[in-house]
Amino acid sequence: NAPLSEVDPEIAEVLELELGRQRDYLEMIASENFVPVSVLQSQGSVLTNKYAEGYPGRRYYGGCEYVDVAESLAIERAKSLFGAEYANVQPHSGATANAAVLSAIATPGDTILGLELAHGGHLTHGMKLNFSGKLYNAVSYGVDPESFVVDMNVVRDKALEHKPQVIIAGWSAYPRQLDFAAFREIADEVGAKLWVDMAHFAGLVAAGLHPNPVPHADVVSSTVHKTIGGPRSGFIVARDMELAKKLNSNVFPGQQGGPLMHVIAAKATAFKIAASAEFKDRQERTVRGAKILAERLTADDSRAAGVDVLTGGTDVHLVLADLRNSAIDGQQAEDLLHEALITVNRNAVPFDPRPPMVTSGLRIGTPALATRGFGDAEFTEVADIIALTLKGEADVPALRARVEALTARFPLYPGLAQ
Ligand code: PLP
Repeated sequence: NAPLSEVDPEIAEVLELELGRQRDYLEMIASENFVPVSVLQSQGSVLTNKYAEGYPGRRYYGGCEYVDVAESLAIERAKSLFGAEYANVQPHSGATANAAVLSAIATPGDTILGLELAHGGHLTHGMKLNFSGKLYNAVSYGVDPESFVVDMNVVRDKALEHKPQVIIAGWSAYPRQLDFAAFREIADEVGAKLWVDMAHFAGLVAAGLHPNPVPHADVVSSTVHKTIGGPRSGFIVARDMELAKKLNSNVFPGQQGGPLMHVIAAKATAFKIAASAEFKDRQERTVRGAKILAERLTADDSRAAGVDVLTGGTDVHLVLADLRNSAIDGQQAEDLLHEALITVNRNAVPFDPRPPMVTSGLRIGTPALATRGFGDAEFTEVADIIALTLKGEADVPALRARVEALTARFPLYPGLAQ
Protein backbone atom coordinates (compact mmCIF):
# COMPACT_ATOMS: atom_id res chain seq x y z
CA ASN A 1 0.00 0.00 0.00
CA ALA A 2 2.78 2.37 -0.90
CA PRO A 3 1.66 5.78 -2.20
CA LEU A 4 1.23 6.50 -5.89
CA SER A 5 4.38 8.61 -6.00
CA GLU A 6 6.38 5.48 -5.08
CA VAL A 7 4.42 2.85 -6.99
CA ASP A 8 4.08 4.83 -10.20
CA PRO A 9 6.00 8.11 -10.22
CA GLU A 10 5.22 8.67 -13.91
CA ILE A 11 1.46 8.71 -13.30
CA ALA A 12 1.93 10.68 -10.07
CA GLU A 13 3.69 13.31 -12.16
CA VAL A 14 0.80 13.42 -14.64
CA LEU A 15 -1.64 14.08 -11.77
CA GLU A 16 0.55 16.82 -10.37
CA LEU A 17 1.08 18.51 -13.74
CA GLU A 18 -2.63 18.33 -14.55
CA LEU A 19 -3.53 19.93 -11.21
CA GLY A 20 -1.06 22.69 -12.02
CA ARG A 21 -2.56 23.17 -15.49
CA GLN A 22 -6.08 23.39 -14.07
CA ARG A 23 -4.88 25.96 -11.54
CA ASP A 24 -2.89 28.09 -13.99
CA TYR A 25 -5.28 28.31 -16.95
CA LEU A 26 -8.75 29.82 -17.19
CA GLU A 27 -10.90 26.81 -18.03
CA MET A 28 -13.54 27.87 -20.52
CA ILE A 29 -14.41 24.61 -22.26
CA ALA A 30 -18.19 24.71 -22.02
CA SER A 31 -18.55 21.02 -21.12
CA GLU A 32 -16.04 21.09 -18.26
CA ASN A 33 -16.23 22.00 -14.60
CA PHE A 34 -14.35 21.48 -11.30
CA VAL A 35 -15.82 18.90 -8.95
CA PRO A 36 -15.76 19.71 -5.25
CA VAL A 37 -13.29 17.91 -2.98
CA SER A 38 -16.20 15.89 -1.54
CA VAL A 39 -16.79 14.40 -5.00
CA LEU A 40 -13.09 13.65 -5.44
CA GLN A 41 -13.24 11.80 -2.11
CA SER A 42 -16.07 9.50 -3.21
CA GLN A 43 -14.44 8.81 -6.55
CA GLY A 44 -11.16 7.92 -4.93
CA SER A 45 -12.82 5.64 -2.36
CA VAL A 46 -13.12 1.91 -1.59
CA LEU A 47 -16.50 1.90 -3.33
CA THR A 48 -14.51 1.31 -6.52
CA ASN A 49 -13.94 -2.25 -5.26
CA LYS A 50 -17.58 -3.27 -5.21
CA TYR A 51 -19.52 -5.26 -7.80
CA ALA A 52 -23.23 -4.46 -7.68
CA GLU A 53 -24.90 -5.68 -10.89
CA GLY A 54 -28.63 -5.11 -10.61
CA TYR A 55 -30.46 -2.34 -8.77
CA PRO A 56 -30.80 -1.45 -5.04
CA GLY A 57 -32.48 -4.34 -3.21
CA ARG A 58 -32.21 -6.60 -6.31
CA ARG A 59 -28.49 -7.27 -6.80
CA TYR A 60 -26.69 -10.24 -8.32
CA TYR A 61 -23.89 -9.93 -5.73
CA GLY A 62 -23.71 -10.16 -1.95
CA GLY A 63 -22.45 -7.40 0.30
CA CYS A 64 -24.37 -4.59 -1.39
CA GLU A 65 -26.03 -3.23 1.75
CA TYR A 66 -23.97 -0.04 1.83
CA VAL A 67 -23.71 0.69 -1.88
CA ASP A 68 -27.50 0.23 -2.02
CA VAL A 69 -27.81 3.22 0.32
CA ALA A 70 -25.57 5.33 -1.93
CA GLU A 71 -27.46 4.45 -5.11
CA SER A 72 -30.89 4.98 -3.47
CA LEU A 73 -29.77 8.43 -2.28
CA ALA A 74 -28.56 9.31 -5.78
CA ILE A 75 -31.87 8.15 -7.30
CA GLU A 76 -34.05 10.05 -4.80
CA ARG A 77 -31.99 13.22 -5.16
CA ALA A 78 -32.07 13.10 -8.99
CA LYS A 79 -35.85 12.61 -8.91
CA SER A 80 -36.40 15.49 -6.54
CA LEU A 81 -34.01 17.83 -8.38
CA PHE A 82 -35.75 17.44 -11.72
CA GLY A 83 -39.34 16.73 -10.63
CA ALA A 84 -39.18 13.18 -12.01
CA GLU A 85 -40.84 9.97 -10.82
CA TYR A 86 -38.14 7.83 -12.40
CA ALA A 87 -34.34 8.02 -12.27
CA ASN A 88 -31.51 5.70 -13.28
CA VAL A 89 -28.10 6.82 -12.03
CA GLN A 90 -26.02 3.94 -13.40
CA PRO A 91 -24.93 5.16 -16.87
CA HIS A 92 -21.15 5.39 -16.94
CA SER A 93 -21.33 8.38 -19.29
CA GLY A 94 -23.66 10.58 -21.30
CA ALA A 95 -23.08 8.43 -24.39
CA THR A 96 -24.00 5.23 -22.50
CA ALA A 97 -27.13 6.87 -21.12
CA ASN A 98 -28.09 7.83 -24.66
CA ALA A 99 -27.44 4.34 -26.01
CA ALA A 100 -29.72 2.93 -23.30
CA VAL A 101 -32.43 5.51 -24.02
CA LEU A 102 -32.45 4.81 -27.74
CA SER A 103 -32.49 1.05 -27.30
CA ALA A 104 -35.42 1.44 -24.86
CA ILE A 105 -37.60 3.61 -27.11
CA ALA A 106 -36.60 2.58 -30.63
CA THR A 107 -35.88 -0.56 -32.64
CA PRO A 108 -32.86 -0.74 -34.98
CA GLY A 109 -33.95 0.58 -38.36
CA ASP A 110 -36.35 3.13 -36.83
CA THR A 111 -36.06 6.76 -37.87
CA ILE A 112 -34.64 9.25 -35.36
CA LEU A 113 -34.75 13.02 -35.87
CA GLY A 114 -32.18 15.18 -34.05
CA LEU A 115 -30.23 18.42 -34.36
CA GLU A 116 -27.57 18.21 -37.08
CA LEU A 117 -24.11 17.55 -35.62
CA ALA A 118 -22.58 20.48 -37.55
CA HIS A 119 -25.26 22.77 -36.12
CA GLY A 120 -24.60 21.88 -32.48
CA GLY A 121 -26.03 18.36 -32.12
CA HIS A 122 -24.22 15.47 -30.43
CA LEU A 123 -22.58 12.34 -31.86
CA THR A 124 -25.16 10.13 -30.14
CA HIS A 125 -28.03 11.91 -31.88
CA GLY A 126 -27.39 10.19 -35.22
CA MET A 127 -23.81 10.75 -36.39
CA LYS A 128 -23.03 8.13 -39.01
CA LEU A 129 -19.99 6.60 -37.28
CA ASN A 130 -21.78 6.46 -33.91
CA PHE A 131 -24.09 3.58 -32.85
CA SER A 132 -27.00 6.01 -33.26
CA GLY A 133 -26.24 6.56 -36.94
CA LYS A 134 -25.32 2.94 -37.62
CA LEU A 135 -28.32 1.26 -35.98
CA TYR A 136 -31.00 3.83 -36.76
CA ASN A 137 -32.11 5.78 -39.79
CA ALA A 138 -30.87 9.16 -38.60
CA VAL A 139 -32.28 12.34 -40.11
CA SER A 140 -31.75 15.86 -38.85
CA TYR A 141 -33.05 19.39 -38.53
CA GLY A 142 -30.68 22.36 -38.68
CA VAL A 143 -30.66 25.93 -37.45
CA ASP A 144 -31.98 28.79 -39.55
CA PRO A 145 -29.21 30.11 -41.89
CA GLU A 146 -29.94 33.74 -40.95
CA SER A 147 -30.81 33.65 -37.24
CA PHE A 148 -28.89 30.44 -36.30
CA VAL A 149 -31.86 29.55 -34.09
CA VAL A 150 -33.83 26.27 -34.30
CA ASP A 151 -37.02 27.06 -36.22
CA MET A 152 -39.88 24.90 -34.92
CA ASN A 153 -41.64 25.12 -38.30
CA VAL A 154 -38.64 23.40 -39.86
CA VAL A 155 -38.62 20.75 -37.10
CA ARG A 156 -42.33 20.13 -37.78
CA ASP A 157 -41.81 19.91 -41.56
CA LYS A 158 -38.96 17.43 -41.08
CA ALA A 159 -41.06 15.38 -38.66
CA LEU A 160 -44.01 15.29 -41.09
CA GLU A 161 -41.67 14.37 -43.94
CA HIS A 162 -39.74 11.58 -42.18
CA LYS A 163 -42.31 10.31 -39.62
CA PRO A 164 -39.61 9.49 -37.02
CA GLN A 165 -40.20 7.11 -34.13
CA VAL A 166 -38.02 9.35 -31.93
CA ILE A 167 -37.50 13.10 -31.89
CA ILE A 168 -34.41 14.34 -30.05
CA ALA A 169 -34.15 17.79 -28.48
CA GLY A 170 -30.77 18.68 -27.00
CA TRP A 171 -27.39 19.98 -28.03
CA SER A 172 -23.67 20.29 -27.39
CA ALA A 173 -23.18 23.74 -28.90
CA TYR A 174 -26.24 25.99 -29.00
CA PRO A 175 -26.65 29.26 -27.10
CA ARG A 176 -30.43 29.41 -26.74
CA GLN A 177 -33.25 27.54 -24.99
CA LEU A 178 -35.33 25.01 -26.89
CA ASP A 179 -39.14 25.09 -26.83
CA PHE A 180 -39.91 21.73 -25.25
CA ALA A 181 -43.70 22.22 -25.39
CA ALA A 182 -43.47 22.78 -29.16
CA PHE A 183 -41.30 19.66 -29.52
CA ARG A 184 -43.95 17.72 -27.53
CA GLU A 185 -46.74 18.90 -29.84
CA ILE A 186 -44.80 17.84 -32.92
CA ALA A 187 -43.93 14.47 -31.39
CA ASP A 188 -47.62 13.90 -30.62
CA GLU A 189 -48.64 14.97 -34.10
CA VAL A 190 -46.39 12.35 -35.75
CA GLY A 191 -46.66 9.68 -33.03
CA ALA A 192 -42.99 9.93 -32.00
CA LYS A 193 -41.39 9.60 -28.59
CA LEU A 194 -39.71 12.79 -27.37
CA TRP A 195 -36.25 12.34 -25.88
CA VAL A 196 -34.48 15.40 -24.43
CA ASP A 197 -30.72 15.25 -23.88
CA MET A 198 -30.08 17.97 -21.29
CA ALA A 199 -26.39 17.05 -20.81
CA HIS A 200 -25.24 20.64 -21.21
CA PHE A 201 -27.92 22.64 -19.45
CA ALA A 202 -28.97 20.26 -16.63
CA GLY A 203 -27.33 22.46 -13.99
CA LEU A 204 -29.32 25.46 -15.18
CA VAL A 205 -32.51 23.38 -15.01
CA ALA A 206 -31.68 22.23 -11.47
CA ALA A 207 -31.22 25.88 -10.46
CA GLY A 208 -34.52 26.95 -12.05
CA LEU A 209 -32.76 29.12 -14.65
CA HIS A 210 -33.81 27.09 -17.69
CA PRO A 211 -37.14 25.41 -18.55
CA ASN A 212 -37.34 21.85 -17.24
CA PRO A 213 -37.81 19.34 -20.07
CA VAL A 214 -39.01 16.55 -17.75
CA PRO A 215 -42.76 17.42 -17.84
CA HIS A 216 -42.70 17.45 -21.67
CA ALA A 217 -40.45 14.56 -22.63
CA ASP A 218 -40.99 10.79 -22.55
CA VAL A 219 -37.42 10.49 -21.31
CA VAL A 220 -34.56 12.84 -20.44
CA SER A 221 -30.86 11.93 -20.38
CA SER A 222 -27.93 13.92 -19.07
CA THR A 223 -24.33 14.00 -18.03
CA VAL A 224 -23.36 14.95 -14.48
CA HIS A 225 -20.03 16.60 -15.22
CA LYS A 226 -20.97 19.67 -17.24
CA THR A 227 -23.06 22.47 -15.67
CA ILE A 228 -23.98 20.21 -12.72
CA GLY A 229 -20.28 19.99 -11.89
CA GLY A 230 -20.35 16.42 -10.58
CA PRO A 231 -18.39 13.27 -11.49
CA ARG A 232 -17.87 12.36 -15.16
CA SER A 233 -20.93 10.16 -15.80
CA GLY A 234 -24.56 10.07 -16.97
CA PHE A 235 -28.11 9.54 -15.72
CA ILE A 236 -31.66 9.22 -17.01
CA VAL A 237 -34.90 10.67 -15.62
CA ALA A 238 -38.54 10.48 -16.70
CA ARG A 239 -41.68 12.21 -15.48
CA ASP A 240 -43.48 8.88 -14.82
CA MET A 241 -42.83 5.17 -14.51
CA GLU A 242 -44.20 4.17 -17.93
CA LEU A 243 -40.78 3.41 -19.43
CA ALA A 244 -39.07 2.50 -16.13
CA LYS A 245 -38.66 -1.24 -16.75
CA LYS A 246 -37.48 -0.77 -20.31
CA LEU A 247 -35.02 1.96 -19.38
CA ASN A 248 -33.61 -0.01 -16.44
CA SER A 249 -33.11 -3.17 -18.47
CA ASN A 250 -31.54 -1.24 -21.32
CA VAL A 251 -28.96 0.30 -18.97
CA PHE A 252 -28.28 -3.04 -17.21
CA PRO A 253 -27.87 -5.58 -18.75
CA GLY A 254 -28.51 -3.80 -22.06
CA GLN A 255 -25.50 -1.50 -22.19
CA GLN A 256 -23.50 -2.08 -19.03
CA GLY A 257 -22.36 -4.65 -16.52
CA GLY A 258 -21.39 -3.62 -13.01
CA PRO A 259 -22.18 -0.01 -12.08
CA LEU A 260 -19.36 2.27 -10.88
CA MET A 261 -20.46 2.58 -7.25
CA HIS A 262 -17.77 5.13 -6.35
CA VAL A 263 -19.06 7.36 -9.15
CA ILE A 264 -22.69 6.78 -8.14
CA ALA A 265 -21.87 7.88 -4.58
CA ALA A 266 -20.22 10.99 -6.03
CA LYS A 267 -23.35 11.62 -8.13
CA ALA A 268 -25.45 11.49 -4.95
CA THR A 269 -23.22 14.20 -3.44
CA ALA A 270 -23.33 16.31 -6.61
CA PHE A 271 -27.15 16.13 -6.67
CA LYS A 272 -27.29 17.12 -2.99
CA ILE A 273 -25.10 20.15 -3.71
CA ALA A 274 -27.23 21.01 -6.77
CA ALA A 275 -30.25 21.54 -4.51
CA SER A 276 -28.45 24.23 -2.47
CA ALA A 277 -28.70 28.03 -2.57
CA GLU A 278 -24.95 28.19 -3.19
CA PHE A 279 -25.40 26.11 -6.35
CA LYS A 280 -28.14 28.44 -7.59
CA ASP A 281 -25.87 31.41 -7.05
CA ARG A 282 -23.13 29.65 -9.01
CA GLN A 283 -25.47 28.93 -11.94
CA GLU A 284 -26.63 32.57 -11.91
CA ARG A 285 -23.01 33.74 -12.11
CA THR A 286 -22.46 31.20 -14.92
CA VAL A 287 -25.29 32.60 -17.08
CA ARG A 288 -24.46 36.23 -16.29
CA GLY A 289 -20.82 35.56 -17.17
CA ALA A 290 -21.83 34.16 -20.56
CA LYS A 291 -24.03 37.21 -21.20
CA ILE A 292 -21.17 39.56 -20.28
CA LEU A 293 -18.91 37.71 -22.72
CA ALA A 294 -21.53 37.86 -25.49
CA GLU A 295 -21.99 41.61 -24.95
CA ARG A 296 -18.25 42.21 -25.16
CA LEU A 297 -17.86 40.11 -28.33
CA THR A 298 -20.73 41.96 -30.04
CA ALA A 299 -19.52 45.45 -29.05
CA ASP A 300 -18.74 47.85 -31.91
CA ASP A 301 -14.98 47.39 -31.75
CA SER A 302 -15.34 43.57 -31.85
CA ARG A 303 -17.76 43.66 -34.77
CA ALA A 304 -15.51 46.10 -36.63
CA ALA A 305 -12.76 43.45 -36.36
CA GLY A 306 -15.06 40.77 -37.80
CA VAL A 307 -15.81 39.16 -34.42
CA ASP A 308 -19.42 38.34 -33.58
CA VAL A 309 -21.55 35.90 -31.59
CA LEU A 310 -24.01 33.42 -33.11
CA THR A 311 -27.67 34.38 -32.47
CA GLY A 312 -26.41 37.74 -31.13
CA GLY A 313 -26.18 36.56 -27.52
CA THR A 314 -26.87 33.69 -25.14
CA ASP A 315 -29.44 32.37 -22.66
CA VAL A 316 -27.21 29.64 -21.29
CA HIS A 317 -23.68 28.91 -20.06
CA LEU A 318 -21.88 29.27 -23.37
CA VAL A 319 -21.21 31.66 -26.20
CA LEU A 320 -20.49 30.68 -29.77
CA ALA A 321 -18.01 33.18 -31.16
CA ASP A 322 -18.49 33.70 -34.87
CA LEU A 323 -15.20 34.33 -36.69
CA ARG A 324 -16.44 33.93 -40.26
CA ASN A 325 -15.57 37.57 -41.02
CA SER A 326 -12.44 37.65 -38.90
CA ALA A 327 -8.86 37.35 -40.14
CA ILE A 328 -8.29 34.91 -37.26
CA ASP A 329 -9.83 31.46 -37.72
CA GLY A 330 -11.00 29.06 -34.99
CA GLN A 331 -7.68 27.20 -34.82
CA GLN A 332 -5.64 30.39 -34.55
CA ALA A 333 -8.03 31.81 -31.94
CA GLU A 334 -7.80 28.64 -29.85
CA ASP A 335 -3.98 28.73 -30.06
CA LEU A 336 -3.72 32.44 -29.22
CA LEU A 337 -6.02 32.06 -26.22
CA HIS A 338 -3.98 29.08 -25.08
CA GLU A 339 -0.88 31.29 -25.12
CA ALA A 340 -2.82 33.76 -22.99
CA LEU A 341 -3.59 30.87 -20.53
CA ILE A 342 -7.25 30.52 -21.53
CA THR A 343 -8.56 27.10 -22.61
CA VAL A 344 -11.44 27.00 -25.09
CA ASN A 345 -12.32 24.76 -28.00
CA ARG A 346 -12.64 25.75 -31.60
CA ASN A 347 -15.99 24.84 -33.03
CA ALA A 348 -17.38 24.86 -36.55
CA VAL A 349 -20.23 27.34 -36.97
CA PRO A 350 -23.25 26.10 -38.94
CA PHE A 351 -22.60 26.46 -42.70
CA ASP A 352 -18.91 27.01 -41.85
CA PRO A 353 -16.89 28.12 -44.89
CA ARG A 354 -13.60 26.95 -43.31
CA PRO A 355 -12.52 23.27 -43.08
CA PRO A 356 -13.58 21.25 -39.96
CA MET A 357 -10.05 21.12 -38.50
CA VAL A 358 -9.75 24.91 -38.81
CA THR A 359 -13.32 26.20 -38.25
CA SER A 360 -14.72 29.72 -37.96
CA GLY A 361 -15.88 29.55 -34.39
CA LEU A 362 -15.10 29.06 -30.73
CA ARG A 363 -17.32 27.53 -28.06
CA ILE A 364 -16.64 29.43 -24.84
CA GLY A 365 -18.25 28.37 -21.57
CA THR A 366 -18.42 29.90 -18.11
CA PRO A 367 -19.35 27.00 -15.72
CA ALA A 368 -15.84 26.14 -14.53
CA LEU A 369 -14.89 29.76 -13.82
CA ALA A 370 -18.17 30.34 -11.96
CA THR A 371 -17.31 27.29 -9.83
CA ARG A 372 -13.90 28.85 -9.24
CA GLY A 373 -15.74 31.85 -7.79
CA PHE A 374 -15.83 34.32 -10.68
CA GLY A 375 -18.56 36.97 -10.65
CA ASP A 376 -19.49 39.88 -12.92
CA ALA A 377 -16.25 41.84 -12.40
CA GLU A 378 -14.00 38.88 -13.20
CA PHE A 379 -16.09 37.82 -16.20
CA THR A 380 -15.88 41.39 -17.51
CA GLU A 381 -12.09 41.21 -17.28
CA VAL A 382 -12.02 37.76 -18.96
CA ALA A 383 -14.35 39.01 -21.71
CA ASP A 384 -12.02 41.92 -22.38
CA ILE A 385 -8.97 39.65 -22.58
CA ILE A 386 -10.79 37.35 -25.04
CA ALA A 387 -12.08 40.26 -27.14
CA LEU A 388 -8.58 41.76 -27.45
CA THR A 389 -7.22 38.37 -28.48
CA LEU A 390 -9.90 37.72 -31.10
CA LYS A 391 -9.53 41.24 -32.50
CA GLY A 392 -5.91 40.39 -33.25
CA GLU A 393 -4.65 43.05 -30.86
CA ALA A 394 -3.21 40.57 -28.44
CA ASP A 395 -0.12 41.64 -26.58
CA VAL A 396 0.13 38.09 -25.31
CA PRO A 397 2.52 38.67 -22.37
CA ALA A 398 0.30 41.50 -21.10
CA LEU A 399 -2.84 39.35 -21.38
CA ARG A 400 -1.09 36.45 -19.64
CA ALA A 401 -0.26 38.78 -16.76
CA ARG A 402 -3.93 39.77 -16.49
CA VAL A 403 -4.95 36.09 -16.44
CA GLU A 404 -2.30 35.32 -13.82
CA ALA A 405 -3.73 38.06 -11.61
CA LEU A 406 -7.18 36.40 -11.84
CA THR A 407 -5.99 32.85 -11.16
CA ALA A 408 -3.96 34.07 -8.18
CA ARG A 409 -7.03 35.73 -6.68
CA PHE A 410 -9.19 32.57 -7.09
CA PRO A 411 -7.02 29.62 -6.03
CA LEU A 412 -8.28 26.24 -7.22
CA TYR A 413 -8.31 23.33 -4.74
CA PRO A 414 -6.29 25.27 -2.15
CA GLY A 415 -4.16 22.94 -0.09
CA LEU A 416 -4.78 19.93 -2.35
CA ALA A 417 -1.73 17.98 -3.39
CA GLN A 418 -1.91 15.13 -5.91
N1 PLP B 1 -25.02 14.46 -24.87
C1 PLP B 1 -24.61 15.71 -25.10
C2 PLP B 1 -25.60 16.73 -25.53
C3 PLP B 1 -23.26 16.05 -24.93
O1 PLP B 1 -22.83 17.29 -25.19
C4 PLP B 1 -22.36 15.03 -24.51
C5 PLP B 1 -20.92 15.32 -24.29
O2 PLP B 1 -20.26 16.03 -24.93
C6 PLP B 1 -22.84 13.75 -24.32
C7 PLP B 1 -24.17 13.49 -24.50
C8 PLP B 1 -21.91 12.59 -24.03
O3 PLP B 1 -21.37 12.59 -22.79
P1 PLP B 1 -20.08 11.69 -22.47
O4 PLP B 1 -18.91 12.42 -23.03
O5 PLP B 1 -20.11 11.58 -20.99
O6 PLP B 1 -20.28 10.36 -23.13
